[in-house]
Amino acid sequence: MIKFSNTYCELPENFFEEVLPSVGETPELMHFNNELAQELGLDLAVLNEQELANIFCGKTILEGSNPIAMAYSGHQFGQFNPSLGDGRAHLLGEVITAEQQRFDIQLKGSGRSRYSRRGDGRSWLGPVVREYILSEAMSALGIPTTRALCAVRTGEEVLREDTLPGAVFTRVASSHLRVGTFEYFSARSADDLKIMADYAIDRHDPDLKNHKQKYFEFLKRVARRKLSLVSKWMGIGFIHGVMNTDNTSIAGITIDYGPCAFMDNYVENKVYSSIDRQGRYAYSNQGQIAIWNMSVLANALFPLLLDESESKNTDKVILKLQEEFKHLDSFYQQEYLNVMGKKFGIFRPAYSDLAIINEFLKHLEDNHLDFTNSFRKLNTLDHDNKLFLRKWQDRLAEQAKTSAEVIELMNQSNPFIIPRNHQVAKAIEDSVGGDDSYFKYLVQSYKKPFVQNEALDDLTLTPRPEEIVHQTFCGT
Ligand code: AMP
Ligand code: MG
Repeated sequence: MIKFSNTYCELPENFFEEVLPSVGETPELMHFNNELAQELGLDLAVLNEQELANIFCGKTILEGSNPIAMAYSGHQFGQFNPSLGDGRAHLLGEVITAEQQRFDIQLKGSGRSRYSRRGDGRSWLGPVVREYILSEAMSALGIPTTRALCAVRTGEEVLREDTLPGAVFTRVASSHLRVGTFEYFSARSADDLKIMADYAIDRHDPDLKNHKQKYFEFLKRVARRKLSLVSKWMGIGFIHGVMNTDNTSIAGITIDYGPCAFMDNYVENKVYSSIDRQGRYAYSNQGQIAIWNMSVLANALFPLLLDESESKNTDKVILKLQEEFKHLDSFYQQEYLNVMGKKFGIFRPAYSDLAIINEFLKHLEDNHLDFTNSFRKLNTLDHDNKLFLRKWQDRLAEQAKTSAEVIELMNQSNPFIIPRNHQVAKAIEDSVGGDDSYFKYLVQSYKKPFVQNEALDDLTLTPRPEEIVHQTFCGT
């Protein structure tokens, strides 16, 4: 049915807790991602909805599955918290696809573990619907991300500010290793840190295994994946909202969809998350925060970096890291430029193109214009700001490309449709009321986000004033 291969369980026992999910007696299937199940090679077609619901809320444990909660630490809003971990998630196990890629299958909202602290181990339906819609839409938008396999109502009530219906989300990820995972071991044991780093290299960068300075190379890879990811977020107006190091994957995927949001009107330093009072994770800060998070990873890996260095000299290793972080700064600038330049039909964006990019963004901000729709409309190669239009068209003329080629590049870089906050909010509201049809409609609708589709025109409309989502909540 599902052939599990559980490498994480073979790690030392202090890396996790073996713990069974504990959820409701009357689970009910909300959504199952058949396409993803097929991609993963899961043989579940013979099961009925009730059997799927039982498996993906943790009531039925399949043979070969060995549920665990993983340990990790993290810097939350800049403060180190040594003891986080899966407080409401269970890793059911790993699966290997036909292409030999390994994926974790994890339940979220499935009960308490030793890492729960004061939490109840549950999730209400809102964050489940949200993560399902958003992670699938992000994947379709070409953004590396965890995926959504299943959403199940638990039939239990969860106490938040109100009493709300409980749900369990099944997440699929190339791994759940976080920057915070390394912080956890770095703070505790040099031996465990090495075991963790070797495991991560084995899993994500096996070609580095025999490299003389594999930990340094690994850090470089992780940082580049992360910065490249964030530049892609910038390109679609995505604000993660809680870029804590425990929510920062070392595989370069978007993970932990909490109070994240897509911008409607462009505002450079836009913040949605109600808990981000200082704007630490504002739209325009995301690149710098990602680099800061990588400095936390460098710090966590430091004992290994020192040990593998030729000099074994702390100052020299620090100098080398400082050099690398300068490169990372320019790497991010270039990635950002590549992503944004293509939105204007510029095939090989140069540093000087920032002028065009920034002028257009300023125009959007000054005139309270919608980020997504304004960029998509550029495919007419026309614009009402004539000054901008001249500069832009002169730039396009420098390329040996036809208009059709330019338009094609723009249509591949500027989505026609994104999961807008007010649409997601309506899906949650309907599902809380027992009607999942809008949730399912949205999941379906966001599957081909770059294709113009009149049937979906309604979903490209900006929110009416009363529909605008001004703030998002962690809502765990
Ligand atoms: P998050 O903000 O969702 O990334 O979670 C931060 C930490 O809080 C992680 O260790 C989670 O496992 C934990 N956590 C969040 N919600 C709950 C909950 N309802 N019960 C137990 N732990 C939770
Ligand atoms: Mg988290």
